[in-house]
Amino acid sequence: MAKVAYFDNNATTAVAPEVVEAMMPFLTEYYGNPSSIHTFGGQVANCIEEAREKLARLLGAEPSEIIFTSCGTESDLAAVYSAMRSLPNRRHIVTSRVEHPAILNLCQWLVGREKCRLTEIAVDHQGRLDMGQLRDAVDEDTAIVTLMWANNETGVIFPVEEAAAVARNHGAIFHTDAVQAVGKVPINLADSQVDMLSLSGHKLHAPKGVGALYVRRGTPYVPLIRGGHQESNRRAGTEAVPNIVALGKAAELAAERIEEENSRVKALRDRLEEGLLKSCPDARINGDRENRLPNTTNISFEYIEGEAILLLLDQEGICASSGSACTTGSLEPSHVLRAMGVPFTAAHGSIRFSLSYYTTDQDVDRVLKVMPGIVNRLREISPFGRDQAKTA
Ligand code: PLP
Repeated sequence: MAKVAYFDNNATTAVAPEVVEAMMPFLTEYYGNPSSIHTFGGQVANCIEEAREKLARLLGAEPSEIIFTSCGTESDLAAVYSAMRSLPNRRHIVTSRVEHPAILNLCQWLVGREKCRLTEIAVDHQGRLDMGQLRDAVDEDTAIVTLMWANNETGVIFPVEEAAAVARNHGAIFHTDAVQAVGKVPINLADSQVDMLSLSGHKLHAPKGVGALYVRRGTPYVPLIRGGHQESNRRAGTEAVPNIVALGKAAELAAERIEEENSRVKALRDRLEEGLLKSCPDARINGDRENRLPNTTNISFEYIEGEAILLLLDQEGICASSGSACTTGSLEPSHVLRAMGVPFTAAHGSIRFSLSYYTTDQDVDRVLKVMPGIVNRLREISPFGRDQAKTA
């Protein structure tokens, strides 16, 4: 089978070879428990601290502000849980309509279980946060404002600092799900009002099964997982040492490569986007083109089904996605595109291409070569597409 052209990096990324190399000794030679008293275990504990330092450096944070977790979803849950427990007299959660299910489903579930109020802030046609609505919504009853740094489906970036200032003015905790942003855009938490930030290893070339939660020094924190004293009593359970070392290495690589990610990857993404808009009639970009992750494009091909496009791309060895990976399998159009008011016929035909450090010019050429044929073929067999063609 020919090598796949992989355009699904917002779902997950390839583990970098340097990361595999860094984590390998902790699967073989250095298997000691970091909590053990002996030197063999102590060495491993030191490597966890090195990883923490590397990740803190990428974020402009202090190492003591980093808690290692199992994934982005756990980090999100831990942040919301902690805020609701540490500010028990506040019963209001503020989030947006376009969050990842890790936040949205959690918050909606909490409303029934914890007797709290939830406000979901709207976005405009370009996926931009309604800051006026946010300012009106946050009040003295708000425990947490949780807003994503960058959207996983469209790449649209939220004004996190402005939103954090609104939360702080009302004494609420500000959390950001930065799972898609870390490693793709510069982040400096030292100069920020963000109280908590979630990230996930497998989105930045570390393996699946590791994430982290940043908790600003001084922010109250109530642990989600209780038991042993690991992670300074903030997350019990023997540490996933190989994965943590891997995340540290991935953070180090990301810090070195971030500028390249911003320029080379963006140039590839822009070439892909322009090529598709030129060669495929009735194609449109979803999301604010000015304020987006450099690696993401979400394109609607009107009057055809995104799933059908994906299947035909798959036959050509090209991996992309429609909606978020977690909602794949449902034929409902994406909640993000619906919140943006993207017409039904366009939302159904939307495809996300997400690039990475490893995406090549040849990968982009492969998509540009096959996509016009795929779109034409599907429009021909779509009754809606034929009608549209006649009126065009
Ligand atoms: N938040 C966002 C924005 C995501 O894109 C994802 C994964 O797609 C998650 C959270 C969940 O992360 P994980 O897969 O590490 O649980």
